[in-house]
Amino acid sequence: MQYLSTRGHPDRKRFCEILLEGLAPDGGLYLPEHYPQVSDATLSAWRRVYHDEGYAALAFEVLSLYIDDIPAQDLRALCETTYTEEVFGTGEIVPLRHLEDDLWLEGLSNGPTLAFKDMAMQLLGNLFEYELARRGEQLNILGATSGDTGSAAEYAMRGKKGVRVFMTSPHGRMSPFQQAQMFSLMDDNIHNIAIEGVFDDCQDIVKAVSNDLAFKRQYKVGTVNSINWARLLAQVVYYFAGYFQATTANEQSVSFAVPSGNFGNVCAGHVARMMGLPIAQLVVATNENDVLDEFFRTGMYRVRGSADTFETSSPSMDISKASNFERFVFDLLGRDGARVAQLFGPQLARAGHFDLSGDVAFAQAAERFGFVSGKSTHGDRIATIRDTFARHAMVIDTHTADGVKVAREHRQPGVPMVVLETALPIKFAETIVEALGQQPERPARFEGIEALPKRVVVMPASVEMVKAYMVEKCE
Ligand SMILES: *Cc1c(COP(=O)(O)O)cnc(C)c1O
Repeated sequence: MQYLSTRGHPDRKRFCEILLEGLAPDGGLYLPEHYPQVSDATLSAWRRVYHDEGYAALAFEVLSLYIDDIPAQDLRALCETTYTEEVFGTGEIVPLRHLEDDLWLEGLSNGPTLAFKDMAMQLLGNLFEYELARRGEQLNILGATSGDTGSAAEYAMRGKKGVRVFMTSPHGRMSPFQQAQMFSLMDDNIHNIAIEGVFDDCQDIVKAVSNDLAFKRQYKVGTVNSINWARLLAQVVYYFAGYFQATTANEQSVSFAVPSGNFGNVCAGHVARMMGLPIAQLVVATNENDVLDEFFRTGMYRVRGSADTFETSSPSMDISKASNFERFVFDLLGRDGARVAQLFGPQLARAGHFDLSGDVAFAQAAERFGFVSGKSTHGDRIATIRDTFARHAMVIDTHTADGVKVAREHRQPGVPMVVLETALPIKFAETIVEALGQQPERPARFEGIEALPKRVVVMPASVEMVKAYMVEKCE
């Protein structure tokens, strides 16, 4: 399998080449040259694999179609060490729970940090360690986080040979639970840097360091952000697993409702659908930051400024632009790289928007690609959490609540609707208390983590100081 850039660059690359890279050289995102097609017979075979051998075996089947530069037995071993009951708290890895009628919840947040990002990041940690050992290289991952991504990255990379993590976060701004999750890690290769500033200051530091090409090369600085193709690919697997749990035969189709921010999760659903998985609709659920809902309703993609980007009670969906969205637009426009380069290049940076409302491709988006959308507000979130608890004695987190709210608006008779549960409620306890007047349940392994010793350095928002700290730790 060869990979190409969404902006039309002529180069083609293999999986392990793009694994450790960010953007393509022309600023585009990597996608496979084609989507392997899953025939009815293969789908039946995979259904058996999933039921008889489990999630890791299914992951190997899916990944094999996209990764041909890792020997099969190694790839299988990587899947088997990643998707275990020990790491994901349940042998089913992504259990399906019934909510009401045709509405289901697929649990993607039983991993080490209790959010769905573990599903991909845990695999990425093992892939990085494998590939760096093969090359005899080191990698220093530099990131910025306001919560979920940073902790998922640290729990995936802790103790991994060849990898160090330097994670910046805004000092004092994460929830006590999130701080405890990250700062209690004592592994030598994990470095927490609390920046005296806001999340944007952290992101600016990461950008400044990455733009210093000499430093970047000398210290082998890399990232693990959501545009990484390997992360997206890992997420494709749970669409298949959700489908197999919700159906008994391949004639049945299923819809998925996905709490969305950077469009990584639902983009994986798009890839599964392009491979031939019988998905009726892909329901994009946004919060008040409704960049994506606006696009799917009107054809206008309008990036928000910081004054128009709201802090909400589903904070992992608080985005001003959706960094994976370019991948879908590439497919929507018939894989026209020149056109994508024109839309997402300097024009978007300058004007802040593009408009596809008059394009025939957009008019067919829902019909050809199954996309529909909706948005949810703080009030909706509270009401949905209350209602789900009152009627089903089930506590759902704020992001999942956005998914359930929008899913209910798009149900079709006879088609199971699977809502992806993207976090456990304990991560966002404040809003749960607001909705239910009680604390959410805390998994036993997180009992008392706020009291554990913390390993973190506090620094002013200074690029030079962060660089100096990295240099010191690399010696
Ligand atoms: C990251 C995240 C999302 C958004 O996922 P995208 O892939 O960015 O669309 C939703 N919910 C939770 C809990 C998350 O951590």
